Amino acid sequence: MKLLWLFFTVLMGCACSTTKSMQLTAPAQIEPIVQRFVADCRKSLPENVCSPPIKLYISINTITEDGVLGQCTTYREPFDDIKFIEIQPNVVNSYQLWAVMYHELFHCVLNKPHYDTEYDIMNAYESPDVTRILYSDWDFFVQRVFQRE
Ligand SMILES: [Zn+2]
Repeated sequence: MKLLWLFFTVLMGCACSTTKSMQLTAPAQIEPIVQRFVADCRKSLPENVCSPPIKLYISINTITEDGVLGQCTTYREPFDDIKFIEIQPNVVNSYQLWAVMYHELFHCVLNKPHYDTEYDIMNAYESPDVTRILYSDWDFFVQRVFQRE
């Protein structure tokens, strides 16, 4: 009986260390979006790329720069990068939340740059019309960014 318990503990330990490689602090309504992002990523890319060992803090903050819906900031620590995603409060309750969050996660988790194609999650400019198009074929637009070099 005792042996069995030990084995179980070891198995649990292994599972935890792979899923916790990304240290995430996020508001409750945003956490499911991050989990979905990681799951989507694993459809196209190796698991270790999709949840790198980073500290990622997501917060809802008023960004004073005009027209900015969200931003990803990296701070270089002595041994580690710490990344912050900030989201404008008015975005959190809007239909744009998924598009803005995926855009910032592509920056922060995978270092994806902006992309000029009009209908693209990584276009620097977002409008309600563009977001509507992205949502009409969401999986296609998401996977296209994951697969881009
Ligand atoms: Zn951006």
